[in-house]
This record gives sequence, structure tokens and C-alpha cells, in this order.
Amino acid sequence: MSESRLIDSFGRAISYLRISVTDVCNLRCVYCMPESQMHFLPSANLLSRSEIARLGGILVREGVRKIRLTGGEPLARPDIVDIARDLSSFGLPGGLALSTNGVLLPRCAEQLVEAGVDRVNISLDGVDAEHFRRMARRDHLDAVLQAIEIALALPFTKVKINTVVVRGFNDDQIVPLAERARASRVGVRFIEFMPYGDNLWTSDQYMPVEEIRGVLERRFKIIPIEKGTHDGPAVEFAVEGFEGTIGFISPISDRFCAGCNRMRLTSEGQLKACLFSTGNVDLRGPMRSGASDEELLAIIRRAVQNKEERHPMFPGMIKSGLSLPTRNMNTIGG
Ligand code: SAM
Ligand code: SF4
Repeated sequence: MSESRLIDSFGRAISYLRISVTDVCNLRCVYCMPESQMHFLPSANLLSRSEIARLGGILVREGVRKIRLTGGEPLARPDIVDIARDLSSFGLPGGLALSTNGVLLPRCAEQLVEAGVDRVNISLDGVDAEHFRRMARRDHLDAVLQAIEIALALPFTKVKINTVVVRGFNDDQIVPLAERARASRVGVRFIEFMPYGDNLWTSDQYMPVEEIRGVLERRFKIIPIEKGTHDGPAVEFAVEGFEGTIGFISPISDRFCAGCNRMRLTSEGQLKACLFSTGNVDLRGPMRSGASDEELLAIIRRAVQNKEERHPMFPGMIKSGLSLPTRNMNTIGG
């Protein structure tokens, strides 16, 4: 297949699409959603299975090579297996990935594999019940631990644990979480806590990757690993004596915007060129008004052209001084 034809005004080729299929979630992670969120989008506002497949198909024909299903919690959507099957039928060289909190994974993991999901990221911010509750504000640790074991036993090519480090909440979990990669093929990735929407971010709670890495280097010998073609922005390391790996994602301390190859499709059918875009490009409205594939592609091309050069975050920032999306990450797809 040829290279992507979706090139933005800074010469970056778009080859990775993240699709949020719902804003609904069964957890309330402190860094993502307010505890008080009770109302979610009416289902008529969400893209239907066939609308997702149609837009996915257009984007794949233009050069998207990897798709990730996300949310909210994507497994809260009853037709997630069918959505996955539709998208994997496009034959994605970079794979079909899923980001999930894992709570519902045990009941559908095998079906997802059969439907073509080949890699899974499971969020886990602490290894004991107390930390889990502090971070997710719910008591589902056992289900998530079971989900990780089930995922590791299935033929997913990659199984990763994603941890957002929030100082004062789970920074004492960095070593215990890394230890999960000692005796299994899992990749544990530590992500810098980002300010977003009306989440509770404060500069005191932000822990830069350099510091997280320092904690681990005092304990383990870590060895850099070369990146694969379709790998994301994480910097990955082998650990002496470990079967699995550890990785770091540093959107703030070392922003990777110059190499960004991604676009996001929200659950309501808005195309976002950056997680931090404040403008939206609507595809659902035109699609429901009868737009042809060519017309939708013209809208997509304009959105790609307008992709921001970089996001607004930097070390030392003050949240109120940034132009941030007003909606939380579960509505857009982290
Ligand atoms: N519910 C699924 C999950 O938790 O994996 C998928 C959606 S979640 C929004 C996708 C990713 O965004 C997760 O890895 C989560 O840790 C990350 N995320 C959410 N809010 C974040 C924040 N404020 N800073 C950094 N990462 C965040
Ligand atoms: Fe839900 Fe994922 Fe957000 Fe946590 S990070 S509240 S699991 S969408």
C-alpha cells in the first residue's frame, strides 16, 4: 500500500486514527472524569456502527494504517465487537488496537481477538485495592487484574499497562507497577498527568517522566529499545531480568508533536487533529445529510490541513493560562 495521502501543512503524514466510540465510563479516574458526571451523550448523538465503518474506510483508503478504539470506556458499547470486526476487515498493517480500563474485558476478550483486535492497552494506576480506588474512585481492581492475565494468555501481539502518574496519589506505585513486567510479557508505560477540561490537575501533582524514570533507575537497570514503524510516542526500555518492558510517555516535558501522525474521531463524529484542538470538524452532520464519500473526504482534508503545529502544554505552565478543551478526556478519547 502507498504512503498516506493525508499530509498536514507541516508535512506530517497522518497514518494513525484513534476512534472514541462512547463517552460512557464505569470508572471515574481522578485525572480524567469528575466524580459527579451522571449524564452522557444520548445514543442518537453517537456515531453508529455503520457510520464508524464508513469514516474508517475513507480514512484507511487515504493512508491510515493503524486504528485504536478508545473512549470513555469502549467496552461499555454493546456493539464493540462488531465495530472492531468492520474496521479490521480493512486490513490494517499497523494493527487494530484497543484502550480499555479492563473492567469488562474478561467477558469479551476472546471475541475481540476473533474480531481482529491485535493489541490492547489496559489502564492500571495502582497494584492494591486502596490505590486503585483512590485513582479510579471505584472498586474494580480484581476485574482489571484478571483482564490483564486473560489478555496475556490470548494471542494479542502487544499487551500494555498504561499508568498516569499523579504525585501524591500513586507515585509510590511506580516500582510496584513496573514489577508487573518482571515475569510477564507486558509493557508498563508511565504517562505524564496532563491538564484537561475541568480535571483536577495542579502543577504539584505533575511528575515529569525524568523523575519517574529516576525512581526506576535507582531500582533497575534499564536498556533502550529501538522503535517499530507503527509504534506510538512512548520511549521503551528493556529491564535487566524482566520478561516485559517499561516505557514513558512525556507529552509535557518532551513534547512529541513534530512527529505526530494521529487524528482523532470523537464519539459524536467530530474529527480532531489534536487532543488539544479547541475547534471541531463535524462529519456526522454532513454524513446524516447525505454527503458523498468525496464530500466527506474534502472535509477530512481540510481538517488535516488545519492540524495544529503543537499542543499548548509545557513544563512550568499554569493551567488557567492555557487554552484547553473545556470537555473532559472521556468525551474525546484519550
Ligand atoms: N477508558 C479507557 C482507559 O482508561 O484506558 C480508554 C479511554 S482513556 C481516556 C485513554 C487514556 O487516556 C488512558 O490511558 C488514560 O490513562 C489516559 N488519560 C486520561 N486522562 C489523562 C490525563 N489527564 N493525563 C494523561 N493521560 C490521561
Ligand atoms: Fe474512564 Fe478511561 Fe477516563 Fe478512567 S481514563 S475515567 S477508565 S475513560
